[in-house]
Amino acid sequence: MSINKILENNRQWVSDKNAQDPEYFSRLAKGQQPRYLFIGCSDSRVPASGITGTGPGEMFVHRNIANLVVHTDINLLSVLQYAVEVLGVKDIMVVGHYGCGGVAAAAGTKQYGLIDNWLTNIRDVIRIHEQEFLSIENEEQRLRRLVELNVTEQVQNLAKTSIIQNAMRTENPPRLHGLVYDIADGRLKDLQLNGEQPLSGLEHIYATEAPKGADHDSSTYEGKKEDPAQEAAVTEDRLTQKS
Ligand SMILES: [Zn+2]
Repeated sequence: MSINKILENNRQWVSDKNAQDPEYFSRLAKGQQPRYLFIGCSDSRVPASGITGTGPGEMFVHRNIANLVVHTDINLLSVLQYAVEVLGVKDIMVVGHYGCGGVAAAAGTKQYGLIDNWLTNIRDVIRIHEQEFLSIENEEQRLRRLVELNVTEQVQNLAKTSIIQNAMRTENPPRLHGLVYDIADGRLKDLQLNGEQPLSGLEHIYATEAPKGADHDSSTYEGKKEDPAQEAAVTEDRLTQKS
């Protein structure tokens, strides 16, 4: 498909949407308040909105190879912080998928380049669950299980962040979910992780607290929303400083 075909598809989509609902784009242009944050794999066979039945405005999306939550990934952390603290998303889902090439590569020994370093995060998942992983004789089943274990570990990685730990102490904490998508039949499976207590059993190692009076001290933090008036004042401040 050439880029011209992409542009032609876009024109068709715009005219279809406008025909169905003339206010569609003007409504979306006003802003977003998505309920969900989706953290999924970059795989082209896992279209985030298609498999979840969500449309524009409903889901904030972050994708990377093998849906990893890496604590030094400024991209993921920025998406997470903004989604939780500014947009106020209610449900955060890590969505893995069976047949994941990244997961399969991590289970093997062949190098693919720079990406091997990224995939080391999945080799860490194998190390943590080595006994169970090695006990599964069938290779396909072993990789399917690794996909699930990887999602479970990434949900825990979310729970280890200061962002989620602070959000969990607010009145309306987000829920964490681990899902796996099956490319072969299109179905999403809920791994039924304990989304309210994702660190259960590991608090003594990973739980942290904001210093008293800090921005994220739970007694002052309210899962804040933007105050448009204050935002305008800040913008004006910057403009004044510039001139
Ligand atoms: Zn994948």
